[in-house]
Amino acid sequence: MLRKAEDSEVRQVIKPHVSINIASIEASGASLGFIRPKLVDYQLNIISTEVKDEQMQITQEGLGTRDMIKLKQESTYFFNCQDSSGCSCKNQPHKMEILDWEVNELYRHILEKTKDPAEITGKMRQKWFDWMKDERDTYFMMGTHHRWKIWMIVSVLYLRHGEEQRQVKLGQTKLDNI
Ligand SMILES: [Zn+2]
Repeated sequence: MLRKAEDSEVRQVIKPHVSINIASIEASGASLGFIRPKLVDYQLNIISTEVKDEQMQITQEGLGTRDMIKLKQESTYFFNCQDSSGCSCKNQPHKMEILDWEVNELYRHILEKTKDPAEITGKMRQKWFDWMKDERDTYFMMGTHHRWKIWMIVSVLYLRHGEEQRQVKLGQTKLDNI
C-alpha cells in the first residue's frame, strides 16, 4: 500500500505521460500510454468459481496448471476519455478488458468466501467501479495486444486524491446537489 505522499509522487511521475484520449495515443504511434478515464460502467463475466484446480495439463503453450493458463473471470470497463473530441468515445464509451493481475487476485479472494454469483459480482463491482470512481484518482495504463492490435487496460492505478483535488471534488459534489 502506498502512503498518501507516495501517491502524489506517482501522480507527478505519470502526469507528463497521461494522454487526453486514446485517439491521441494512437496518433503518436505508441503502443503504450496512460489515460485518466471517466468510468461509465463495469462488467464481470464469471467463467468459473472453482478455487483450486491443480491438475497439470499439457496445452499448446506447454505444461502448466490450468490456473496459470486461464483466468476464471473477465472484467470489462466502459469508460470515456478525459477529452472525447476526436476519439471514438465521443459516440460510444470504450469497452475494454482489464488485465491487471489485481482483478484476478480479488476475485480469488472473494471466491474463498462465497460462490454466489450475485454476491461475487456485487463485491467486484464495489471495488472496481464504486470505490474506484468515488474514492480514487484513477489512471489506466493502456497497451495494445501484440497480435490483435486492440487496446487493453494493462494496469489500473488508483491514487488517493491530493488535497487540492479533494477540494475541487467537494466543490463539484456541492454543485451537483444544487
Ligand atoms: Zn476515448
